[in-house]
Amino acid sequence: MSSRVLKIGKPRLCDHCGQEIEPGRAHYRVAVTLEAGFDGVLADMPGEGDIGDTLKKLEKDKRTAKELENEIYQSLELILCPGCRNKLEGQLVKFGSRGEGVKPPGTLTQ
Ligand SMILES: [Zn+2]
Repeated sequence: MSSRVLKIGKPRLCDHCGQEIEPGRAHYRVAVTLEAGFDGVLADMPGEGDIGDTLKKLEKDKRTAKELENEIYQSLELILCPGCRNKLEGQLVKFGSRGEGVKPPGTLTQ
């Protein structure tokens, strides 16, 4: 029995360590979305007569449009080798834990 090798596309590189991932080898796609939350309360809204101060603050703000956009919504996608996937999983569990571990999607509470 001969083995078949399908060469589809180029080898990928792990986005963390740079290791080459040959076609057909295990790899992982990581999609992360960072979205600003909204709890229905608008804090720090300017009152009447404060618009001049607000405009001055906006003029001094040196953030680019992309930086401002990323504060509201940012989507990232990575391809990882199995080793880096395991490292990331360990980091995510620690990062979100507060002793409870990472919660499955749709179970986040306010
Ligand atoms: Zn890697």
